[in-house]
Amino acid sequence: KYSTAAAIEEPINPSVKVHYNQLLINGQFVDAASGKTFPTLDPRTGDVITHVAEGEAEDINRAVSAARKAFDDGPWPKMTAYERSRIMLRFADLLEKHNDEIAALETWDNGKPYEQSAKIEVPMLTRLFRYYAGWADKIHGLTIPVDGSLHVQTLHEPIGVAGQIIPWNFPLLMFGWKVGPALACGNTVVLKTAEQTPLSALYVSKLFHEAGLPPGVLNVVSGFGPTAGAALASHMEVDKLAFTGSTDTGKVILQLAAKSNLKPVTLELGGKSPFIVCEDADVDKAVEMAHFALFFNQGQCCCAGSRTFVHERVYDEFLEKAKARAVERVVGDPFKEGIEQGPQVDSDQFEKILGYIRSGIEGGATLEAGGERFGAKGYYIKPTVFSNVQDDMLIAKEEIFGPVQSILKFKDLDEVIRRSNASRYGLAAGVFTHNIDTANTLTRALRVGSVWINCFDVFDAAIPFGGYKMSGHGREKGIYSLSNYLQVKAVVTPLKNPAW
Ligand code: NAD
Repeated sequence: KYSTAAAIEEPINPSVKVHYNQLLINGQFVDAASGKTFPTLDPRTGDVITHVAEGEAEDINRAVSAARKAFDDGPWPKMTAYERSRIMLRFADLLEKHNDEIAALETWDNGKPYEQSAKIEVPMLTRLFRYYAGWADKIHGLTIPVDGSLHVQTLHEPIGVAGQIIPWNFPLLMFGWKVGPALACGNTVVLKTAEQTPLSALYVSKLFHEAGLPPGVLNVVSGFGPTAGAALASHMEVDKLAFTGSTDTGKVILQLAAKSNLKPVTLELGGKSPFIVCEDADVDKAVEMAHFALFFNQGQCCCAGSRTFVHERVYDEFLEKAKARAVERVVGDPFKEGIEQGPQVDSDQFEKILGYIRSGIEGGATLEAGGERFGAKGYYIKPTVFSNVQDDMLIAKEEIFGPVQSILKFKDLDEVIRRSNASRYGLAAGVFTHNIDTANTLTRALRVGSVWINCFDVFDAAIPFGGYKMSGHGREKGIYSLSNYLQVKAVVTPLKNPAW
């Protein structure tokens, strides 16, 4: 049932050209100080799309200086909140206007299905900027009654220059989750994109400048983690750092922040999220939702439902149907209509996932579907299902970040709560049941930042997202994200005439 490999052998040309492949510093596209470039690859074939300027420490210094100046001298934090909001709204209009080009660039660089980029991700980005534009003029402090003749108030002020480091799995959405709240609060930004997917952020940042963003407010540096990323995390003039990526890199980021200027850090890291199918679940619906929870975005989601716990009473039926669904999944060129799954982002991820599949087989799990590459070219992997998965297997403990579903059997609620929580991660969970008591019990017992009941991966700009335990620090999106980008100043003034 997998779609034909011919779709990959003759890739469909994307309907977009790469216009921007330099660094965006102080409103200008510039080469890297070293003159270096690096290739960004088409995951469908491994061919070079273009060469991109490779930013390093010196470029981060230039970008931070521009952001510093735009913050300290203005105009961004000194503009009225309404003016900032207007620019963000104009940017959202341009995102809407250029929706299809942006989506094509994203799919080309990342490999995700074009339909998903065009119908879900770019529209979500647009919506997100409208949401945060709405917050810009609603950020304010409190007046606080205290003992004595005092007027006490708090000012909510932007924190300064925000450094932001994003991954490759949702390049545009991660751009939005980081840049939206930071700019709404009046900060300036230096963003380092992932080396696998530098293109879409450059394109949309150019549009932001067309919308009226002053130079230096948003600077985008393409480059690698240990060079550009580390320089940003350890920069003395960066006032705050936000990172999304692996837990191991998150630890490095915290150390760099601690060793430099103790900048506050928010981290959105890995996960091994349980998707719990209870005994009363409608099996057909549960199979479809569990499939989506794991396979969406080629399995490259930090919150993927990567431990599918199924109650023993429905286990056999669930397994047969989950396997059939995986075999039916349509894999192929992401620019082709009707494709559900494109290639993994690069050869490193591809090899890593195949390594986990081998470890599942060697560890004694039963391979029910997939288990190998798809086609002869590019980084495609057949949707893979393992049954008989045990908690101590690597595939049940570590983040695979690929299209590999691990199905585990459970007997009762206490057991599934204990096993779900026995993870270093705590990002999200899915619960499939119609029993309100079961849903309430699981919701409260699971140590995770998001619980989706009879749904999964619902990402509204207004809903906070983030992890417990080693899945991270802090929350992004919604009202919660604003506090990451604000300082609170307490102001105390004696009252001249206490009677009034
Ligand atoms: P990564 O954490 O190494 O990369 C994420 C970002 O951090 C990139 O921009 C990268 O350049 C940067 N970075 C890397 N090393 C750095 C350093 N020393 N200092 C500063 N910045 C640094 O992730 P990866 O290598 O692309 O993927 C590895 C694994 O991470 C994946 O297999 C997956 O398990 C996980 N991952 C998680 C997410 C998520 O959304 N939580 C996203 C991508 C990858």
